[in-house]
Amino acid sequence: MTDLTSFIAGLPKAELHVHHVGSASPRIVAELAARHEGSSPVPADPALLADYFAFRDFAHFIEIYLSVVDLIRDDEDVRLLTYEIGRELGRQNVRYAELTVTPYSSVRRGIAAKAFCEAIEDARLGAARDFGVDLRWCFDIPGEAGLPAAEQTLRIALDERPDGLISFGLGGPEIGVPRPQFKPYFDQARAAGLHSVPHAGETTGPETVWDALRELGAERIGHGIAAARDERLMAHLAEHQIPLEVCPTSNLRTRAVADIEEHPLATLVAAGVPVSVNSDDPPMFGTTLEREYATAARLLKLDEDGVADLARAAVRHSFQPAAGKSVLIAEIDAYRAAQG
Ligand SMILES: [Zn+2]
Repeated sequence: MTDLTSFIAGLPKAELHVHHVGSASPRIVAELAARHEGSSPVPADPALLADYFAFRDFAHFIEIYLSVVDLIRDDEDVRLLTYEIGRELGRQNVRYAELTVTPYSSVRRGIAAKAFCEAIEDARLGAARDFGVDLRWCFDIPGEAGLPAAEQTLRIALDERPDGLISFGLGGPEIGVPRPQFKPYFDQARAAGLHSVPHAGETTGPETVWDALRELGAERIGHGIAAARDERLMAHLAEHQIPLEVCPTSNLRTRAVADIEEHPLATLVAAGVPVSVNSDDPPMFGTTLEREYATAARLLKLDEDGVADLARAAVRHSFQPAAGKSVLIAEIDAYRAAQG
């Protein structure tokens, strides 16, 4: 029998919930911190970064995250970060990734929207060419920055409309940031053909997921694990086949879940809710997509076939065109068959 860890490593995968700045590995962060040394609290020594990245709670995570955001100061930082993320995804056999990008954070630090979009597009082409990774963008509103951030994120999305942009999101804290206030922005983004993928039900209850569905027209939900506390919501997600992007280690690190053994992934799957497994902010949470698959396999008691099904689900839930999905699913099928 193939070792499950190496099976997962070689498995062609799609990643649907991973943040741009949150994907900065200690190596990349150290490089950025060194470029901006003396004007950032982030250590430039990779050895010190592990301690720096040890989170106490969700509020502390946001604080650290924003200090890394502050290192992205020019379009070269953006290009380097994005291209290097492509390299790290490629190493894990991720073939397709929808990266959640927060252009507002960079634009308010003085990077022009056009230069920002050109930098990520340049990196996208480079990642496809050099690492075989197809990157796509979800432009998300940093919820903590409120409606001005929503307005500007929408403007950047619609005015610049980079080729890789496919969806519109909402991240940051949920507590004190009600979802319905963002409805007009999601309405306009959807009218312009972008998919709706807000975070909801990560650190608050099922009502936030209901809000995301009713007010923001969510087609997929970032996290959404609070749905496991609401039978009617799970039935709704199952009936309408609205997938959740589940990120187990993230939930543990931010204390959204007290113990990984209490993670509601199995409850959601048993109720027929479509799920994919994702990494969220992998280096910051000390994880990788491969490790998230291993954790999910343990929680769901999956063998190789089950893990391959999980990979196929992520492809099906993605927003790539049908032809791209077929190619990637065929790759997964071929890999599974070759592994015996
Ligand atoms: Zn997220």
